[in-house]
Amino acid sequence: MTISEYVESIFPWMIETRRHIHQHPELSFQEHETCAFICDQLKTMGIEHHVVASTGVVAHVGSGDRCVALRADIDALPIHEETGLEYASKRDGVMHACGHDTHTTMLLAAAKVLKHHEAELRGVVKLIFQPGEEKTPGGASIMIAEGTLTNPTPEMIFGQHIYPDAPCGQVQFVAGPTMASCDELFWTITGYGAHAAQPHKGKDPILAAAGLVQHLQSLVTKHRNPLVPGLLNVTSIHGGTATNIVPEVVEMKGTLRSFDNQWREFAWTFLEEQTKAVCALHGCVGEINIVKGYPPLINDQKAVDFARSVASEVVGADSIADFEPKMWAEDFAYYSQVMPGCFWMLGGRPDGQHTMPGLHNAKFAPDERAMLTGAALLAETALRHLRA
Ligand SMILES: [Zn+2]
Ligand SMILES: [Zn+2]
Repeated sequence: MTISEYVESIFPWMIETRRHIHQHPELSFQEHETCAFICDQLKTMGIEHHVVASTGVVAHVGSGDRCVALRADIDALPIHEETGLEYASKRDGVMHACGHDTHTTMLLAAAKVLKHHEAELRGVVKLIFQPGEEKTPGGASIMIAEGTLTNPTPEMIFGQHIYPDAPCGQVQFVAGPTMASCDELFWTITGYGAHAAQPHKGKDPILAAAGLVQHLQSLVTKHRNPLVPGLLNVTSIHGGTATNIVPEVVEMKGTLRSFDNQWREFAWTFLEEQTKAVCALHGCVGEINIVKGYPPLINDQKAVDFARSVASEVVGADSIADFEPKMWAEDFAYYSQVMPGCFWMLGGRPDGQHTMPGLHNAKFAPDERAMLTGAALLAETALRHLRA
């Protein structure tokens, strides 16, 4: 029986597992039931495991000095599900709208396959069930700080994300920059309140905010090599209450994203300095709080070549495509900063559909059959890595 056939044989269990997780979603860093469920499943399989970072799980299959790691994220989002599916979320306002329920299930399935083939393993497969992918600082950095990548240290790490823009069963790869760094920006612009008919008695933070939003775009258009992707987006602006009042304060939010750590660091300084300077021109005090998030996700060429060659045998060359990098963020980046890693995209769009609601949409409903491909690919990649 091939691994793909074995995965097909456990598919009813995968569906049941996925739907259980889907019905019981938990927000980032609150995945207590999910963690317990994963531990139960691993225990039933006879796989050694332990809890890390409060709600994460690390499991080991095989033995020896060599090691390869597979990672899935397990958290859900604060979204109220609107799919109307019979197995929709049972929790109001919480939903697996990023498909992490499928990621968790595929890694559990891979665990089952690997346990079945344990005698063939020339080393250890480390299975990482990671909490808190959707929320800064992200579960990856915490798991790494707690020693997840030591004892033994993996030679490579592989992960995947279900992807609504590709047909079910297709796998997409790209080497190099794959997803962006992501920093959250929070501004407070303080002026001086006045009667709107006596503007000369106040300091207007609205005018300062308007000037600031305009000026900051020069970070991207005039202070960035146009060949290096980077973006600044001001996404929220709040101030004022009435037509006849100059308000005291305006608050703004935004996001800074890049594939380049050097430009990212330059941008932090630029934002701090220019926020102060532009607001001062208007007699206001501008402050920015930069919450530094995930680094850019850079896929390692060798890891991509390896996973792609495995995929060409598992799914066939016709079902492999190139992934166009996105300015999304993904904390798999932390693993790939310290070891060669490959994060691939797994098509999840149901057959016959040209589009489907995207990630983080209340109607997101990927084709569950995508899990057949994803589980087999995880297991095969680990097995072959340790045989190579
Ligand atoms: Zn997400
Ligand atoms: Zn996700």
